[in-house]
Amino acid sequence: MPIARGRQFLAIPGPTNVPQRILRALDRSPMDFTTPEFAEVAKEVQFGLRRIYKTEHDIFIWASTGHGAWEAAIANFYSPGDKVLICETGAFSEWWKEMAGLFGLDAEYLQGDWRMGIDPDQLEERLKADKAHEIQGIGVVHNETSTGLTNDVAAIRKAIDAAGHPALLMVDTISSLGSMDFRMDEWGCDVVVGGSQKGLMQHAGLGMLGVSPKAIHRAEKATTPRRYWDVRRSMQAPIHMRNPGTAPAHFFYGLKEAIDFLEEETLDGVFARHARLAEGVRQAVAAWAKGGAIDFYVKNPARRSNSVTAVEMTGPVNSDTFRFACRDDFNVLLGGGLLQLGGKVFRIGHLGDLNEPMVWGTLAAIEATLQRLIIPHGPGGVDAAIKFLAAR
Ligand code: PLP
Repeated sequence: MPIARGRQFLAIPGPTNVPQRILRALDRSPMDFTTPEFAEVAKEVQFGLRRIYKTEHDIFIWASTGHGAWEAAIANFYSPGDKVLICETGAFSEWWKEMAGLFGLDAEYLQGDWRMGIDPDQLEERLKADKAHEIQGIGVVHNETSTGLTNDVAAIRKAIDAAGHPALLMVDTISSLGSMDFRMDEWGCDVVVGGSQKGLMQHAGLGMLGVSPKAIHRAEKATTPRRYWDVRRSMQAPIHMRNPGTAPAHFFYGLKEAIDFLEEETLDGVFARHARLAEGVRQAVAAWAKGGAIDFYVKNPARRSNSVTAVEMTGPVNSDTFRFACRDDFNVLLGGGLLQLGGKVFRIGHLGDLNEPMVWGTLAAIEATLQRLIIPHGPGGVDAAIKFLAAR
């Protein structure tokens, strides 16, 4: 194995690059988390996260991965036997649905096309057929990280309203929060799952949940056993002491720094940067696709994600062979395919603390790997990305 020199390019769709100033903020000794100093930081995180979620409601934060926040979304608001409808989008919807089933919920999967995204009309039809309002919750992955597809949450809310259905709307924003516009209150979301390690530019380690008053009301009645995740219990504590047990205090300092960083750029600026860099990546993939051996996995161009692009390898080369070559030869790390996409797609993460040269570097390594492995591809992918991103 050759010795890797120079900077490694982390181009997976999370965890993402952690900027130096956030690393510095995280770098502190254990502390007494009951002090006024920490209370101030915890409050700033609570209110800062509300601005990023675009909500006036409570946000609960745990020392956990996104899986923990998923579990909190399931455990808090339902009782065993309750029906929830999870919309199929890819690997992450699949795992969330599986988790709901393990908690004893009647988890129905609204079948969907991984390449096209959630069809709001289909959802509306299913909800209209539920005349007795048995469905208690609807689960949607805003940005399906396994396929690189962003669902239209506003259109999904409209479909729920058109059906006059009272189910809770649960949204997973793990790979969209802090990278793409998300509007919890305007879009009528009740339970919003987030994680620290993507757009929020942290290590994995914090899971969070935005919760509407309607969902809090449901939590009062839900009988699923829970302790660590219990939002009712957390709400009895002051706003800066809601984390059950010892607060992972250094993470709060890191998150406060991340929120400051995002707000200095402005949220609209952050979203515009992600959209631009994503389009640069798409220009390159579109050029390569002309060779016939690779293509966008997502067939609905309007839904291609601004945080991750899944590239399908349609020829004989396994996508893991491809991305391991890119890793071993050029020290550029790409994401792999999940579940049935294993060996078939590689994923380019383009979210978090990222600029043009980082995107160009990643794309150049991909193009070089296409050449080395003699994979047919159209010329000029990197040039197209340079041209697009060089324009002001
Ligand atoms: N949901 C989505 C959309 C994700 O992308 C991920 C992780 O990548 C998760 C859930 C699970 O989060 P974690 O890996 O932090 O448990």
